[in-house]
Amino acid sequence: MDPVIIVGAGPVGLTLALALARQEVPSVVLDEGPGKDEQRTARTVVLREDTAALVERLTGFPLSEAGFRWAGWRSMRRKQVMREIRFGPEGSEDAQGAAGSDGPGRTGAPAPADVLADAEPFTTPLHLAQHILTAALRGAIAGERLIKIANDSRLDSVEQETSGVTAHTRGPKGTWWRGSYLVGCDGPRSTVRKLQDIRFPGRTAVERHAVAALRTELPWPGEALLHRMPPWRTSGPSAGEVIARPLADDVWRLDWLLPPGKDLVTPDLLVARVRETLSGWSGGSTPAYELLDTGVHTVHHRLARRWRSGRVFLAGDAAHLLGALGTQGLDEGLRDADNLAWKLALAWHHGPHETLLDSYQAERRAVVAARLRAADQSLPLLRAGGGLRSYVPGSAKGQDTLLTDGHLGRGPLGAPGAYADSPLAPPHAESEAPVGTAPGAPVVDVRVTAEDGSFVPLRERFGRGVLLVVLIAPGTGVWERKHWVKAGIMPRLAAAVTALPHPAELLVAESYPGAAAHTVLLVRPDGHLVTALSGVRPADLYAAAEATLGGPAKAEAEATASTN
Ligand SMILES: Cc1cc2nc3c(=O)[nH]c(=O)nc-3n(C[C@H](O)[C@H](O)[C@H](O)COP(=O)(O)OP(=O)(O)OC[C@H]3O[C@@H](n4cnc5c(N)ncnc54)[C@H](O)[C@@H]3O)c2cc1C
Repeated sequence: MDPVIIVGAGPVGLTLALALARQEVPSVVLDEGPGKDEQRTARTVVLREDTAALVERLTGFPLSEAGFRWAGWRSMRRKQVMREIRFGPEGSEDAQGAAGSDGPGRTGAPAPADVLADAEPFTTPLHLAQHILTAALRGAIAGERLIKIANDSRLDSVEQETSGVTAHTRGPKGTWWRGSYLVGCDGPRSTVRKLQDIRFPGRTAVERHAVAALRTELPWPGEALLHRMPPWRTSGPSAGEVIARPLADDVWRLDWLLPPGKDLVTPDLLVARVRETLSGWSGGSTPAYELLDTGVHTVHHRLARRWRSGRVFLAGDAAHLLGALGTQGLDEGLRDADNLAWKLALAWHHGPHETLLDSYQAERRAVVAARLRAADQSLPLLRAGGGLRSYVPGSAKGQDTLLTDGHLGRGPLGAPGAYADSPLAPPHAESEAPVGTAPGAPVVDVRVTAEDGSFVPLRERFGRGVLLVVLIAPGTGVWERKHWVKAGIMPRLAAAVTALPHPAELLVAESYPGAAAHTVLLVRPDGHLVTALSGVRPADLYAAAEATLGGPAKAEAEATASTN
């Protein structure tokens, strides 16, 4: 079988190549660039718990040490502190409203009830320069026999046949490449998307940000800040909003939301903006700072009409663009790679299964579309006509929540998507049991006992192409596996797992949020919950596993034959 051709060695293409390699699928990554990433400190990414863990698992690189986890979040409006959240060690938050204080700082009058933060579960995002992420991915790929990278190779044509794809690249190494599938991870101007004639509708320049990375000390070390309508306005058009997000080594990324239009942001204007912002935050005098990088980041919102065309797929910026209100485009791109990898791996090893391959678009496009819809609905409320200084309807808390959720990874703007209406959803079973995770949502990372008896985080077992069956069995954590593996319901469950239509690993957890003892969870290779069943139900477990793989292979073969 030919390798999967991945077009684009950006973070999404590199992640996909590694995710496929972990499932024994070879790939060739074609990129028009020289194979070196631009070291831009202002081009940073915010990774949520799931995507940070995905990259760490694939690279073995301690991303958490290279990036920075915010110690807290604060929202300010003019001179008022609207909300402070300090994150506890396990991601718990300790929230305070402090309206009425007269500037940054932890003191302030008691908050009115409507600015007190809600207490949704929360995990601190990881913030790091994008080139650190790609360096970690490239480092892992360097030792990977199943991945070939072809630099200076610009894709300019793709042909599909029933048995595979042929791609042509130009450049010094211009040649033809033969692949089983091809995935366009070639960024916003995707050649793959254009060659497949896939439309990319949406909105241009939804927001524009002047961006700077600088090393300095701010009065709230380690905490991110969203400051609406800062009171200083001396350097050109007003910035309606400034965001400061800390990175490692006292470096900060600052984003100024620019008014609509195409006004040029000259280097002088940007330096003036840096100075007035820092002095505004530091009580009138500009603290020492070192400017490391600047730029203008224009946010477009677009969604490709189709993400699959036969053996060709789109992922990352090639498939979607987002970024307003704290939505994170790269986070979604990494989730695309995670979702597609196990499906392509299954097709590569066992032959194509149309329902399974189609489910990539159905699941991922729906999640990103919902995210874009949420942003589109919120934007007019927050940036209502008449410019940024106009009166904005809605309670202060409502606006603050809309502006904050994307950044903090919660609500419709930020929480990881759940594949609720997936074509892979299993048929309803009487034995379904409620747990704290909805079917289709990512499972919680509990400690499990693996088949070799070791205790590992559940997340460590993702991405190996096998299904995971997790029995919730209180008390097992204190005994060695050999003491209970042949006792109680274990032998029946082990037999049911062995009989599944696809390899599955049987794991045991002491507990799982919201789950009763003897609940059995079926988890996909990308860590999303298929279903939870009460007790050992071999037939229901089989039916759920079969649905997750796209339905019975026999029915699929018959359906394909009847359409030919
Ligand atoms: C200043 C700045 C700030 C940003 N801040 C954030 C942020 O805070 N959060 C966030 O999530 N995102 C942010 N982004 C966006 C983020 O960088 C992108 O979402 C991310 O790079 C997308 O990754 P990708 O792998 O899909 O595509 P890309 O990184 O664009 O990679 C595409 C690759 O494809 C290659 N390529 C293109 N065409 C071809 C072809 N025909 N043949 C071969 N190779 C080809 C290119 O050389 C490139 O290597 C920011 C971007 C900028 C510029």
